Amino acid sequence: CGIVGYVGPKNALDVVLEGLRRLEYRGYDSAGVAVRVGGPDSGELAAAKKAGKLANLEKVLADAPLPESTIGIGHTRWATHGGPTDRNAHPHLSADGRVAVIHNGIIENFAALRAECEAAGVEMRSETDTEVVSHLLAAAYDRQPEGPGRLAEAMRAVSRRLEGAFTLVAAHADEPDTLVASRRNSPLVVGVGDGEYFLGSDVAAFIAHTREARELGQDQVVEIDRTRGLTVTDFDGAPAEPTAYTVDWDA
Ligand code: GLU
Repeated sequence: CGIVGYVGPKNALDVVLEGLRRLEYRGYDSAGVAVRVGGPDSGELAAAKKAGKLANLEKVLADAPLPESTIGIGHTRWATHGGPTDRNAHPHLSADGRVAVIHNGIIENFAALRAECEAAGVEMRSETDTEVVSHLLAAAYDRQPEGPGRLAEAMRAVSRRLEGAFTLVAAHADEPDTLVASRRNSPLVVGVGDGEYFLGSDVAAFIAHTREARELGQDQVVEIDRTRGLTVTDFDGAPAEPTAYTVDWDA
């Protein structure tokens, strides 16, 4: 239902929680966050998620704080597949814990993809249509050669296989400066700040920080990277231009 992503010098968890608060008006039944922790060469993902209001998630975070981080993602869920439980809340992590994914929308062909993952030995941990994306992304990332754009290339490969409606945002434990996102039949906007980038299901997610926005077109993937900046392509990797605009309403 609501999506926030952040890459930049601030503490990502603060930015993400602030964004989720501003997206609360959309309604939701669960909430969750993930951050990437560690140095440039070795990292891990840490996540927390909880059914119910953001206050429930904040209580979990107060009892078990997440480390400071410069990369974070956050989600408020409106359940479509699988009940509104802690387990089904986003982010969904891949079996190896290296990929975290949040999703708005519905993956129509999730049953076939789920069967494929299960045949490959993956044990599903939720009833959502979203979880398969985390496993497919982890596998696609591992198949890619090392180097810049690796996570974006994995996201393009997975997006080409998905049917339905999705705004997806993904973080990888091995990527200290990068988030990627993808969209089809579901909105995705990028916020461009000073040395920082935001992702949102709408501009409310980052309006407290910047008014410079880029709206992604249908079937596009965006990479936000602290050093390489903003890169947008279609699902086949051809460069694409997002629509630039300045948000002029008051938050
Ligand atoms: N279909 C996904 C789920 O049920 C995402 C729902 C949403 O857009 O929040 O988990």
